[in-house]
Formats: sequence, structure tokens, C-alpha cells
Amino acid sequence: ESRIIDGKVLAQQVEEEVRSGVEDLESNRGVSPGLATILVGDDPASKIYVRLKHRACERVGIRAEDHFLPAETTQEELLALIDSLNKNKDVHAILLQLPLPKHLFPQEAMEAISPSKDADGFHPYNMGKLMIGDEGLVPCTPHGIIRALEEYNVPVKGKNVVIVGHSNVVGKPMAAMLLNRNATVSVCHIFTDDLKKYSLGADILVVAAGVKHLIKADMVKEGVVIFDVGINKEEDGVYGDVDFKNVIKKASLITPVPGGVGPLTVAMLMKHVLMCAEKSL
Ligand code: NAD
Repeated sequence: ESRIIDGKVLAQQVEEEVRSGVEDLESNRGVSPGLATILVGDDPASKIYVRLKHRACERVGIRAEDHFLPAETTQEELLALIDSLNKNKDVHAILLQLPLPKHLFPQEAMEAISPSKDADGFHPYNMGKLMIGDEGLVPCTPHGIIRALEEYNVPVKGKNVVIVGHSNVVGKPMAAMLLNRNATVSVCHIFTDDLKKYSLGADILVVAAGVKHLIKADMVKEGVVIFDVGINKEEDGVYGDVDFKNVIKKASLITPVPGGVGPLTVAMLMKHVLMCAEKSL
């Protein structure tokens, strides 16, 4: 039995659900789900991410429009575009690709997106709902991890979960989603004085630090379930935050990098666009 959680297979499964949901919405309600992506400036990594999301839209039958703004765009111009997309009935979901150029204010821009079109789940309204256990539009990466835990029948209630990284996009919403499912959650970060002390106690370990091979085999217990969110690009390839080759010997389940959490994240985004379109009725 494989110990590897195949993110590509899971993503295909989720995308298949979305595809049939899209067809259903089109034939029964006459609504064709649409996503608008906004990219400001030409950060190469961001361009790749936006392209991956557009390709996924094509696979599942979601209309995608690409709004590319030059790097020197002003905050007012960005807010004006968001405002027009909020008002556009054919646009059910809006995705603002981060990071923005330094002179812009990402928080204000994200808050300008209508919470009902917030495909990424980053709006404070949706984050607040997540905190009180009302999960609607939640961030895609932790949502994908929850989906994988369900698909692999990994129990969460009462389990010790350790999350490494406390970002607003992964660590914090992940903690909230696991607390909503009654796990015992520890969140570690750069100022945690003894990471190993925590990681050794983990039944489930989610690592989103952006540090190549931060988690080594001696830092985990036998049978641990690991989600490696990290994407660390080096000249000879992409590495996760987990020393996969050695840690897999102790893990009962583990996601690879690439081919783990990444594809699942994009698939969950597709699910969120469909949710936005369904809710618009
Ligand atoms: P971030 O980059 O905003 O912050 C990093 C977090 O890790 C912080 O909480 C920091 O305190 C912690 N950290 C850094 N070094 C540490 C150390 N040595 N020990 C313990 N904690 C440490 O976080 P992010 O935006 O969640 O991104 C984390 C990683 O996940 C990045 O590599 C990013 O590219 C990747 N990522 C992948 C996906 C995906 O879809 N696969 C999605 C989001 C982020």
C-alpha cells in the first residue's frame, strides 16, 4: 500500500466533480460560471500560477477572463477594476494574484472584493466566518488538505496536529479548520524555540514554512501523516519543506513536492468558483 498521497489524482477527482457541477448549472439554470483573475505587474512566478489556474478553468468548463495590469498601476485603478468586476453579473468569482507590486496595498484591495466573489477566501468577512466555524469560502490550500484527510480516511478529532507556519493563507486558516473538527492544534513558526519538541508529538503534520528540508526524519514519530505545502525552487528542481526521501520511511502518509498539495489547491479554487456561481442564484 502506497504511503504517498497523490495530489494529482485527488485534484482530478475534485475537478471531475466541478465539471459536472458546471454542466448542471449551465443546463438546468442557464448560468455559466466565470472567474476573473487580476495580475498586476510581471512577476514570473505569479504569471505561471495564473496560467495554471486558467488551464484548470478550461479543463472544468469555467469561463476565465484575464485582467493584466501593468506594474505601475495605481491603487485607484486597481480598486476601479475590482469595483467593475464586483458589479459584473457574468463574473462570479474574482482572484487577485499576490504579491502585488510594493507601492500597492494588498489588504485594501482584497477587502474591496465582494465577499461573495472571494474565490481565494482571503476576505476578512470569510476569514471571520471560518473562525466561528461557518466554513464557506475558505483559503484553497487548507481546504485541499481537509479534502485529502477525508479521502484518505484520516481521523482528525482528538488528534495532535502540528502546523509549521502561521501565514494568513495557509497556517492560520488551517489551524481554524482543524479546530473546527476538534483536533488539538499547535501552530509553530520562526520564533518557536524547539520545533522538534512539537513536531515529534504530531499525529498529523502540516508544513508551510518555505524552508527546504526543514523537517527531517528524527523530528517526526512513526506513523505520522504529513502534508508538505512548501515550494522551494532550486536550480536542480523544486523541493518541499520535508526531507521526503528519509521522512517517508516513518510516515504512514505523505504528500510529495511537486504533485501533492499544489494541484489540489488549484482544484479547490475551481470548486470555490462553482460555489460562488451557485450562490449567485
Ligand atoms: P509565508 O512565506 O508567508 O511565511 C512562512 C511561515 O513559516 C511563517 O509563519 C514563518 O514564521 C514560518 N517559518 C519560516 N521559517 C521557519 C523555520 N525555520 N522554522 C519554523 N517556522 C518557520 O508562508 P506561506 O505563504 O504559507 O508559504 C509557505 C510555503 O508554502 C512557501 O514555500 C510557499 O511557496 C508555499 N505555498 C504553497 C502553496 C501550494 O499551493 N502548494 C500555497 C501557498 C504557499
